[in-house]
Amino acid sequence: MPPRFSKEVREYHITDVPVKRQRRTSPCEHACPAENRIQLVETLIKEGRFDEARMALLSRNPLAGTTGRVCPGLCEEKCNRRSYDEGVAIRALERFASERGAVPSLRPMDDSGKSVAVIGSGPAGLTAAFYLRLLGHRVEIFEAEPVLGGVPRVNIPDFRLPKNVPDAEVGLILSLGITAHTNTKVGRDVSMQTLLDNFDACLTTTGNPVQRMLAVPGIESARPATTFLHESNMRRDPLPGKSVVILGGGGVAFDCAFTAKRLGASSVSLVFPEKADRIKTTEDEIRQAHDEGIVLYPSHLTTALEEGKVRARRLTDFRFDEKGELIAEFEDDVTYDIPGDMVICASGLKPDTAFLDALAPKRTPRGHLEVGTDMMTSVPGLFAAGDIVTGPATVTSAVGSGRKAAVCIHAFLSKQAEPVEIKLDLDENGSFTPVVNRAKACELTQHVVEFSEIRNPDYHEHAARTAQRVNDTSMLPFAEIKAGFNDEEAVTEAERCMHCGHCIDCGTCVERCPDYILERVENEGPFVRYPQECWHCAACRIGCPTGSIDIEFPITHLV
Ligand SMILES: Cc1cc2nc3c(=O)[nH]c(=O)nc-3n(C[C@H](O)[C@H](O)[C@H](O)COP(=O)(O)OP(=O)(O)OC[C@H]3O[C@@H](n4cnc5c(N)ncnc54)[C@H](O)[C@@H]3O)c2cc1C
Ligand code: SF4
Ligand code: SF4
Repeated sequence: MPPRFSKEVREYHITDVPVKRQRRTSPCEHACPAENRIQLVETLIKEGRFDEARMALLSRNPLAGTTGRVCPGLCEEKCNRRSYDEGVAIRALERFASERGAVPSLRPMDDSGKSVAVIGSGPAGLTAAFYLRLLGHRVEIFEAEPVLGGVPRVNIPDFRLPKNVPDAEVGLILSLGITAHTNTKVGRDVSMQTLLDNFDACLTTTGNPVQRMLAVPGIESARPATTFLHESNMRRDPLPGKSVVILGGGGVAFDCAFTAKRLGASSVSLVFPEKADRIKTTEDEIRQAHDEGIVLYPSHLTTALEEGKVRARRLTDFRFDEKGELIAEFEDDVTYDIPGDMVICASGLKPDTAFLDALAPKRTPRGHLEVGTDMMTSVPGLFAAGDIVTGPATVTSAVGSGRKAAVCIHAFLSKQAEPVEIKLDLDENGSFTPVVNRAKACELTQHVVEFSEIRNPDYHEHAARTAQRVNDTSMLPFAEIKAGFNDEEAVTEAERCMHCGHCIDCGTCVERCPDYILERVENEGPFVRYPQECWHCAACRIGCPTGSIDIEFPITHLV
């Protein structure tokens, strides 16, 4: 078999599976829970095609301004360039494309005559609503809060995600013609049965809104983290001179700590059972905590809250049982006192599915909803997506899950058994016209290209990762910390992507082929002109700087 080239699929697709027509893919795209088209976006930024970069993101993720700021960035952890010099700043490029690209003109498909109720307007609900509406269905959102956006809008602090970002994304989604009912809690203001009776399908995306409180004496004096963050986001009550202790060591606890600092607390400490090298947040946040003088107490379990102090014991290890209860191994019998006149409990979140009790959907031992591969619960016509299914996760995984739910609900409403690929075509006016490809997506198994498969990495010049500029927040402590990229920085950073597994049409393979078997065709890249004459020397593959060439072994000569 002569060489085959893995090329980037340039069209925009909404799909619940990766673009399977691409034989090879990169570890970054493989790791992104929203399946963002990372390489395509970086190619388009590199070429200065910012509007198209935004559209490529929109075909997978209508909340790229949010994920480009708050996603923990599994893609960056897996980026092959980390083995060469420094990983590509994928998140910052995503943020850049979502801000710099023009707002596209979106036109939903013709009315399907079907309707969907979406319960909850977090990332999962908004994403599902966006694609369902594009597919021509009537969509109504029911949200308990006075504003749309879920946790990113009401809980994540402004210094990480200014409210105008999710608000603009909500604005674009609603502009498709979606009705939103805010201050409407399903189970209190409208029953689930009423929605099932009045809509062709219902999707619940209600997340994990209930704070788990530690079962220790005195816990009633602690404030739930989500309440503290919610209130601090609405009105900034100062905490001058207060010593604040936060029980928990994940992202929510760190958000509480940074918020308390900005509200003027004199000292802020975090007490949590995880070991120092297993803290459940990003390296950036741990560094920021040290810089801001926040004290960390890893491997500590809170045993009681007493007047002005938190009592804790040191752990050697711990685990959770299947119901989420913590089983601890203590180091000794000593109890330590940590001074704190305000205690915030950030020890995990759980779902509230009481509004579904009458329907008795199947639940996991931790109370989350069970769904099939079609995202439907055990109740016919009731689908679920986001944290209500997975347990506390990330914005990006909720986006991926919401898109998958939209594709599955569309298949359910249009009575299609096979998965569908929905292509977003650009028409001559620059508007999207979604085209449903009813043919089954091609079943190619994708191969994830690792760094060791890139045999000619030196093709890429060594270059340091472009750092995001930082805003001066000394006068406005809640102003956004990171400033993003300007055009020049974004293009420079996008040029660092090695496009693992995808042909970049550099021509190295054609130059290195000893027998003129390959040819380069304008805008289409290399192709095998004389397959029968290929020697299988693999010079093309060895020279390829992106690892995008397949040669199948054992080699069989074509006759
Ligand atoms: C403080 C905090 C910080 C976080 N930081 C990050 C981060 O930096 N990066 C990251 O990736 N993830 C982060 N997460 C996790 C992330 O926000 C969630 O994984 C994500 O929001 C889940 O999306 P969702 O759509 O499933 O649910 P949610 O965002 O929880 O949205 C659920 C929505 O449903 C509504 N609702 C609930 N019950 C009802 C009802 N009965 N009727 C009507 N509406 C209802 C709620 O009001 C809410 O708006 C954070 C979470 C918290 C709590
Ligand atoms: S959403 Fe997250 S994982 Fe996906 S590309 Fe963006 S930063 Fe990476
Ligand atoms: S170099 Fe580019 S394609 Fe390769 S893993 Fe990193 S961001 Fe992805």
